Amino acid sequence: MVTHSRRGAVLSLAAAGAALGLARPLAFIPPALAAAPLEPTVGFHRFKVGEVEVTAVYDGIWRKPHDPAFIQNATVEETKEALAEAGLTTDFMPIPLTVFVLRIGRRVILCDAGSGVGQWQANATHLPANMKAAGIDRAEIGTILVSHFHPDHVWGLMERGTNAPVFPNAELVVHAAEHRWWTAPGRVETLPEGRRAAGRRIAENFPGWTNWRLAEDGQEVAPGVRLVAAPGHTPGHAAYLLGSGPDQLMISADTMYVPALLAPHPEWRGAYDQDAAQAVETRRKLVDRVIADRIAICGSHFPFPGTGTIRHDGGAYAFVPTSVA
Ligand SMILES: [Zn+2]
Repeated sequence: MVTHSRRGAVLSLAAAGAALGLARPLAFIPPALAAAPLEPTVGFHRFKVGEVEVTAVYDGIWRKPHDPAFIQNATVEETKEALAEAGLTTDFMPIPLTVFVLRIGRRVILCDAGSGVGQWQANATHLPANMKAAGIDRAEIGTILVSHFHPDHVWGLMERGTNAPVFPNAELVVHAAEHRWWTAPGRVETLPEGRRAAGRRIAENFPGWTNWRLAEDGQEVAPGVRLVAAPGHTPGHAAYLLGSGPDQLMISADTMYVPALLAPHPEWRGAYDQDAAQAVETRRKLVDRVIADRIAICGSHFPFPGTGTIRHDGGAYAFVPTSVA
């Protein structure tokens, strides 16, 4: 189990539905959750997974205007319904960003590097101040577990303007398939127009860095942490599974990026999923594993503090966020 410093309500929606003999998933919004503010008043939240101290650190939120292309096989109205059922605003698509820091013994490990102070969204600038408030010194970070090469996860590795490495002395762990795909010669030209600038920035900088450590599926990349290949969102997208004693946390990155949408509708195909069919398959596989093995889950775009549990709910899932209210 995962011990939070302040315990949130954990409600088994699937169990409740089954108990009532319901054929359809039961929509249930706990009042504390419905009233939760979009942006946290305290920008970090600390909890334990076994002996490991995990700190969720808030970077910011993308108030993404509704866009019919965001989910290929759902209408804007359907996405709004899903947000409302999760107790979230329907005024826009809320995409918050949280970075997780693991303290394993004396090692300090960052899970993704955040969006680089306004390099992704103008108001996603809070990571440095919140890290400082949480007592985490950037100089202590020896390892960064990178999930994939999208801007909100890796622009924090580069200084704005100069592209100088922010963490030249840390080892940068990434799934070998992700590094290989983005840095393949001629890749930028094959990308859709909207992705080329980001692809070019990666191609022009990342290959020259010597502190990458390319890892494979299942490989232990830090004490008690294994890479879990989770392709689809990008070709080498990876989750990381942290285990300490009997306790486990799946650091799922963007496998089900907005759980208000993708827990009840795992088959929805996101515009940001590069291979949407593979992303759906990966999502179900990873979530089924999390449920079967009673693993807590965190995600980069889950409501802050980005953690919770997942239950089966009919043929879909119910995500129960950890509340810090
Ligand atoms: Zn993301």
